[in-house]
Amino acid sequence: MIEITRLTKRYGGKPAVDDVSFTVRPGRVTGFLGPNGAGKSTTLRVLLGLDRPDGGTALIGGRRYRDLRHPLRTVGALLDGAGPVPERRAVDHLTWIAQSNRIPRRRVHEVLELVGLTGAARQRVKGYSLGMRQRLGIAAALLGDPEVLVLDEPVNGLDPEGVRRVRDLLREYAASGRTVLLSSHLMAETAETADDAIVIARGRIVAHGPLAGLSAGH
Ligand code: ADP
Ligand code: ADP
Repeated sequence: MIEITRLTKRYGGKPAVDDVSFTVRPGRVTGFLGPNGAGKSTTLRVLLGLDRPDGGTALIGGRRYRDLRHPLRTVGALLDGAGPVPERRAVDHLTWIAQSNRIPRRRVHEVLELVGLTGAARQRVKGYSLGMRQRLGIAAALLGDPEVLVLDEPVNGLDPEGVRRVRDLLREYAASGRTVLLSSHLMAETAETADDAIVIARGRIVAHGPLAGLSAGH
């Protein structure tokens, strides 16, 4: 479970996230929605221990990210700009992450299969399309078979087949009782994947509830 309580983060005195509170429950896909600049990435960065809050807390399973005993086995994340070394082969990139987190090697092949990159596993990442890089990022997030998945704009750059694949995967993941939070600026697209939505605008939560109910109003 993810619990954000009265979270505030300012940049140069200006709040990017302003007194934000919400809970993300397991067993559902939750969309974190809002226009560009609304504060989604900032919230996720604090949640994942990449930024410090100015106030409030962001907890995963009751702990701050940096206090987790097995971070990669607890939470898998896809964030902008955290890509692999371009010269590396995809399979080596994943193997390296697995080894440094004591994740069994066979899991590398499982996640490559899950995202549909088995055939391209030995290619260097620099030859990958945007969609393939995105899928590799999702594969890395899945490596530790984590209880919680946090994905920032996971279907960006994917072709329709890739979108379908990622969508099915996230739904299955949530159906197995795990927690899935995905951010997007595309409400209609997210409505096809997510059960619930948390809507943020200008750093504040403006709606939270089942997506069906929310989109009916628009
Ligand atoms: P979203 O992910 O919803 O597009 P962000 O969390 O990236 O929104 O941004 C929220 C606000 O915070 C924006 O006004 C953005 O310009 C600002 N912001 C984000 N990161 C930084 C940073 N490192 N330095 C200064 N301002 C930032
Ligand atoms: P410490 O004081 O233990 O060295 P840091 O300097 O790394 O901690 O962090 C500065 C502050 O930010 C600390 O008070 C820490 O509790 C807080 N902090 C960091 N991550 C989070 C989070 N996800 N939620 C709430 N507070 C956090």
